[in-house]
Amino acid sequence: MIIQLEDKIKPNDRNNVIEVIEALGYKVTEVKTQRCNYLIGIGKREFDIRKLGNQAGILDIHRVSDDYKLVSKKWKVKNTVIDLGDEVYIGNGELAVMTGPCSIEGEEQIKKTIDHLVENGIKIMRGGVYKPRSSPYSFRGLGIDGLKLWYEYARSKGIKIVTEVMQVSQIEPMLPYTDIFQVGARNTQNFNLLDELGKVDKAVMIKRGISGTIDELLHSAEYVFSAGNEKLILCERGIRTYEKASRNTLDLNAVPILKEKTHLPIVVDPSHGIGIRNHVAPMALAGIMAGADGIIYETHEKPEEAYSDGQQTLDFKESAALNKKMKEAYQLVSNW
Ligand code: PEP
Ligand code: MN
Repeated sequence: MIIQLEDKIKPNDRNNVIEVIEALGYKVTEVKTQRCNYLIGIGKREFDIRKLGNQAGILDIHRVSDDYKLVSKKWKVKNTVIDLGDEVYIGNGELAVMTGPCSIEGEEQIKKTIDHLVENGIKIMRGGVYKPRSSPYSFRGLGIDGLKLWYEYARSKGIKIVTEVMQVSQIEPMLPYTDIFQVGARNTQNFNLLDELGKVDKAVMIKRGISGTIDELLHSAEYVFSAGNEKLILCERGIRTYEKASRNTLDLNAVPILKEKTHLPIVVDPSHGIGIRNHVAPMALAGIMAGADGIIYETHEKPEEAYSDGQQTLDFKESAALNKKMKEAYQLVSNW
């Protein structure tokens, strides 16, 4: 059960509501986000909802049978739109495109990538400054100094930044320079990290775990929401299966299933999803056909020289061509 409280509910009224819910045998969790005050009631007993409805200070009551509550579509009719400022949105009925290198490598690369984004009308740049790498000897990112440098150029051209945060201690230093905190596939169930991201007023994009189920992804999002942050985006980036012909198996089934289960915007990452440059474009288009609100993919001026993930990275020409096709595909789906 989700109870939306009035903004200016009197403390006394709030305590009364909590008392009534507890008396019904329900466990109560209080949630305060940027948008609303909620009480989440967890319990099984059937009861007459009118017992609650006439309490002072209640805006709305919703029964939600799903295990996750706040991210469920069962209570929120309108889909969530993420407002990044300067008229950049995710989930507002226009395709959200996020592109850039796997890793931020230096000033020249940042400038060239931003020029590419500007030329193609793309508003959100991706890139890692903290890189989760399978080998400790691989390039692990430029860290906070790289992010500051990137932010300086990105802001001067009106570009928003999506970048991975790997641990709790990085959140605070990254905060002023980050528009979307990306939670990587290896961290989807790092519940301490999710709790802390619930305390910031910045968007958070959670990637599906390497072997994670759709349900687990929704529960990870519930962690962030219930800790106070409802600016959430979910990302399908492929899962590990027995198939070895591709890096991962991009589970496009997840897109319509997630759209049915949650009001949060859904983004598809075909780069990590298939891991093969020549096949990134068709999988991006397939993601749009499946109903994605956005696509995130890797691009680099010279993919063969990229510090990481070059094998799945598009060059700028390929990226420009894909961007044009994606707009057409999105238009087509929107008209259906
Ligand atoms: C990335 O976006 O570069 C990345 C490491 O993604 P994932 O967490 O999906 O592997
Ligand atoms: Mn990558």
